[in-house]
Amino acid sequence: MSVDKPVSIASIVLDPLCPSSLKRRKVSMPLHINTPLLESRALSLAAERPVLLKMDALQPAGSFKIRGVGAACEHHVARGKRRFISSSGGNAGLAVAYAGRKLSVPVTVYVPETTTEQAKALIRLEGAEVVVHGASWQEANELALQAMGEDAAFIHPFDDPLLWQGHATVIDEVVQAGAVFDAVILSVGGGGLLCGVAEGLARNGLGDVPIIAVETHGAASLSAALDAGELVQLPAITSIATSLGARKVSDHAFRISQNRPVESVVVDDRAAVGASLRFADDHRVVVEPACGAALTVAYSAPIYGPGYERLLVIVCGGATTSIDKLKDLAATLPHHR
Ligand SMILES: *Cc1c(COP(=O)(O)O)cnc(C)c1O
Repeated sequence: MSVDKPVSIASIVLDPLCPSSLKRRKVSMPLHINTPLLESRALSLAAERPVLLKMDALQPAGSFKIRGVGAACEHHVARGKRRFISSSGGNAGLAVAYAGRKLSVPVTVYVPETTTEQAKALIRLEGAEVVVHGASWQEANELALQAMGEDAAFIHPFDDPLLWQGHATVIDEVVQAGAVFDAVILSVGGGGLLCGVAEGLARNGLGDVPIIAVETHGAASLSAALDAGELVQLPAITSIATSLGARKVSDHAFRISQNRPVESVVVDDRAAVGASLRFADDHRVVVEPACGAALTVAYSAPIYGPGYERLLVIVCGGATTSIDKLKDLAATLPHHR
């Protein structure tokens, strides 16, 4: 390449022979990033087999949620919506707040009184309005729905095909990177990530690769539904892994789990917190116990994962914790339940 005659960017954009180049073109760029794919030495030694990590803890807003939320928000903006509404005080609300800021769309997040100061502060940091209402999520959500209107889009935290299409990109990236794996380990709350990963595997010709779907005791709504053979509403969420705290999984998540290889595993809070702390030591990245749940299975793969030779872990992340909080939990959680 010759360097004496640099090509002026302006001359390309304003090429007089090509008047259409004068038009302002809107280049669509996804709101999520292509996250690193690592082979974890520490986890591979613990699991006694190769373990790949898809590091979605590094997404903007701190979790995989921006994949689906970003896709849904872009979809709604393209169809004329001018406000986003969320009723998640967790990583979903945070992702909507981030997407709104990036797309210059105002966001209101309705949260119950139980939402932590840290979560509210993180949402406000993205420029979104936080409305605190009611003792539980149900009341906050009702007020959110009343605030809807023609110009607004409600962004659900896990139950929307637009989200699943966006979450599926996590598998597209792993496949494009040429990774080889024969099981995917992920955490399950309401099942949005599960639906997205199942979609991603299917659209890459990997529909028969098993998904190990991990929940914590006290938030195990998928496990309960699979045991009962029908959707089950848990009476309450008693796990500290609040990002897994959907009392009922989506119908689609339940049906997927019955119709493709999905293995349900339930771990306890203490193990999930321990895995988050061990992961912070091993990889210098802090993740919520919600993500630690999936890591627990990877760290103890000799027990949980016989038959699977190469594991892919979706490191889903989570922004609402810290090393100090994890250490406090490790010190206070009971050893046996
Ligand atoms: C939302 C979330 C989950 C659970 O995802 P679902 O789509 O609700 O199953 C797990 N971990 C983290 C960190 C989350 O933010």
